[in-house]
Amino acid sequence: MINPYKRQDIFRCHHDSHNGFGDVVSAYHVMKNKRCFPNGCVYFRWRCSLLDKGNPCIRGYNHIGRNCPGCRYYSEDKEMNRPEVEVDARVYEDFETELRAFEDWVRDHTGRRVTFYGRIHSVKPRFRGASDGKSQRLSFHGFLLVFQEGYIGKDHFEDFCYATVSRGLQGRWQLRRGDVVEFEGDFGLDRGRLVLSKLNRIEVVERGDGEVWTESQAHVARATGTVFASQEEMCVACPRGALVDMVDETDGRHYRRMFCMEGMPDPALCTYQRGSLLQIEVCLEDRERLRRMNGAGR
Ligand code: SF4
Ligand code: SF4
Repeated sequence: MINPYKRQDIFRCHHDSHNGFGDVVSAYHVMKNKRCFPNGCVYFRWRCSLLDKGNPCIRGYNHIGRNCPGCRYYSEDKEMNRPEVEVDARVYEDFETELRAFEDWVRDHTGRRVTFYGRIHSVKPRFRGASDGKSQRLSFHGFLLVFQEGYIGKDHFEDFCYATVSRGLQGRWQLRRGDVVEFEGDFGLDRGRLVLSKLNRIEVVERGDGEVWTESQAHVARATGTVFASQEEMCVACPRGALVDMVDETDGRHYRRMFCMEGMPDPALCTYQRGSLLQIEVCLEDRERLRRMNGAGR
């Protein structure tokens, strides 16, 4: 079983917000988040005649937001967007069948305790972010275990899935890439991603050789890292890159950003990847799956 919500080969959308991702949108974004297929969505493009010309905002904002209507420099254009199906009718029908089976399976498991068995692909700190239009701040929320596949009960889930662990649990178990683990957790979906939480009955069946993240390292990364507007493929695949759920406090908008824990000013200037590219064991198949994984929050 895979997670059809994460498929990025079904739809394309030319809305500006997807340009940074090559017009790629996940099935989750289209079918569950925006519910914009087949009717499309109406979008009000906010404009600021000051910021558009590179002039500073009279209220000190860096971008247009919910507080702008009423300002004499503000205007809006109404636009219509519609996602396009990228596959032929037969493939789309198969996708719908796959989606129905997945949703039935999710319904059967949601809210239940499940057993999980799998090898940890990576461990990353979990950050959440907020922006007030002038600055961004991140807060630390424990760690995220990333699995490329695993067994949920007796079902082989052949796609990315995740487990959240508290800082206390990570301090006790020192989980790392390569560990084979077994545990029980609450089953749930978070923006199309399968996430297990409230872990107990943890057993490390085999120890891996990855680095162990500590809470103090996570705090250093939070303080010294950088947030990128784009989600470069190399950052998604990088062990020092983490996707961060952000909220814009000026308009309540939720979005995802790439956070570089190495503090690189720009992916194009990344010296970490240049120095260690050969050490990052991400095969082409991994990258394809990571690309699919990357779309659900948009
Ligand atoms: S408040 Fe909004 S519309 Fe007005 S100048 Fe600032 S950014 Fe532009
Ligand atoms: S270290 Fe380089 S590749 Fe990794 S997240 Fe930062 S900029 Fe991206």
